[in-house]
Amino acid sequence: MPSLTELAEQLWRGEIRTSDPQHHPFVALNQMEEVAEGVAFYKGFSNIAAVKTSDGLVLIDTGSYHPTAHQRSFDKVRSYSPDRLHTAIYTHGHVDHAYGLPPFLKEAAEKNWGRPEILGHQGVIPRMRRYNETAGYNSVINSRQFNVKTEWPTNPIFPSRTFDDALNLTVGGEEIWIRHAKGETDDHAWVFLPRTRVLYTGDLFIWAAPNAGNPQKVQRYAIEWARGLREMAALAPEILLPGHGLPVIGRENVAQALTDTADYLESLYTQTLALLNAGVPVVDMIHEIAPPPHLADKPYLLPIYDEPEFIVRNIHRCLGGWWSGVPSELKPAPRQAQAREIAALAGGPRRLIERAAELAEAGDMRLACHLADWAGDAAPESVEVHRIRAAIYTRRMESEPSTMSKGIFGAAARESAAKG
Ligand SMILES: [Zn+2]
Repeated sequence: MPSLTELAEQLWRGEIRTSDPQHHPFVALNQMEEVAEGVAFYKGFSNIAAVKTSDGLVLIDTGSYHPTAHQRSFDKVRSYSPDRLHTAIYTHGHVDHAYGLPPFLKEAAEKNWGRPEILGHQGVIPRMRRYNETAGYNSVINSRQFNVKTEWPTNPIFPSRTFDDALNLTVGGEEIWIRHAKGETDDHAWVFLPRTRVLYTGDLFIWAAPNAGNPQKVQRYAIEWARGLREMAALAPEILLPGHGLPVIGRENVAQALTDTADYLESLYTQTLALLNAGVPVVDMIHEIAPPPHLADKPYLLPIYDEPEFIVRNIHRCLGGWWSGVPSELKPAPRQAQAREIAALAGGPRRLIERAAELAEAGDMRLACHLADWAGDAAPESVEVHRIRAAIYTRRMESEPSTMSKGIFGAAARESAAKG
C-alpha cells in the first residue's frame, strides 16, 4: 500500500483524482504516518494529527463518533506513541472531529493519568447542545447525505477550556498556535506548529470545493473562510494537514492550495454580492454564477462533496432573506395541490412522468426532476409513476458529481422505489 505521502504527491500531480471514488477525501484509509519530526497524521474518514511533546501527546482533532472509528483511530495513535494524552484540540464541533475521545478518556482513567485538557472554540459548546436538541433531524439528514443509516450521537465530550479569537500554548516545549476562523462552521479553528511549520486546517481545507453550501445544514461563512485561508498562507506553512483527505506537502504547494481556495470563495462571494445588489433573485443567480475557470478544475477544488451552486445559496442566505424571489413561493399552496393541478392540465400524472422520462433521456435532468416530483406528488399511490420517478432519480444521482446531490437524489430514488 502506498504511503500517505506518496498518495498525497500523486494527488497533487494529478496522477490520481478525487473524483475517483477510491480517492475521495472521505475514504477511511486508516493509515497513520509521521509527516514531520514528532508530528504524525492519521487518515480516516476524518483526520487526526498527533504531536509528541515532553509532557505527553497533543491531538488535533479526535476522529469520528462511531465506536468502530474510535477503536481504529485509537489503535493507530497508540501505535505511534504510548504517551499520556496531555491535550486534545477540536478544530470544530462536528461529530466526525470532536467525538473521538472516549477510548482515550477510558485509558486515562484506567492508567490514572488525569483527564486531558480539551480545547475548543467557545462556539463548540452551544453547537454540541444544539446537536443534542436536533438529534432526530441530524440522524435523518446524515442518513440521506451519506446513504448510511446514522444514529446521531447525544453524548458529547465538551471542551474543558474554550478560546475566542486565538490561543497560543506551549505543551512540553512545543509551541502551538490556535486561530479561530468562521468558515464551514461558526466554531472553526486551525492550528499551526511553528517548530515544524505544520498547519492543520480542520475542514477549512478538505481536498474538495469548500463545504460552504451544504443544503441541509446550518449557515456557513464563505468570505470569512477566505480570510482565514489567507491568514494561514501568511504563515508560510511547509505541510498542510487537512480535516479530510491527504496532506499537501511543500511550501509553494501549500501556499497555492490555500490562496486558490481563498480566490475561489472570494469570486463566488463577489459575484453573488453583485447580483444581490442588482436585485437578482437567488433562483436566477445560481444559473449565472460559476467559479473562475482556472480554479474549477484544480484537483483540490472539484465539486465532489459540496458544489459552487450551493455555496452561492449559502452566501445569499448569509446576506439576504430566505425568500426564493418567486412571488408564489412566498406563501405557497400545499405541494400536492399544486401537483394535482399541473397534472390535470398536462393530461394526468402518467403523462407528466412520461414527459419527465423523455426529458431525462434527452439529458435535461433538472427539468425532468421537476416533472417527476409533480407526477409523484399528484399520484402518491401510483406504483407505475413511482417506478419511473425512482429510475429518473437514480439516473440523476449517477450523473451528479457531489456527495450532497447524490445523497438527496439517491434518497428520492429510494423513496419512490419503496412505493413502486
Ligand atoms: Zn469534517
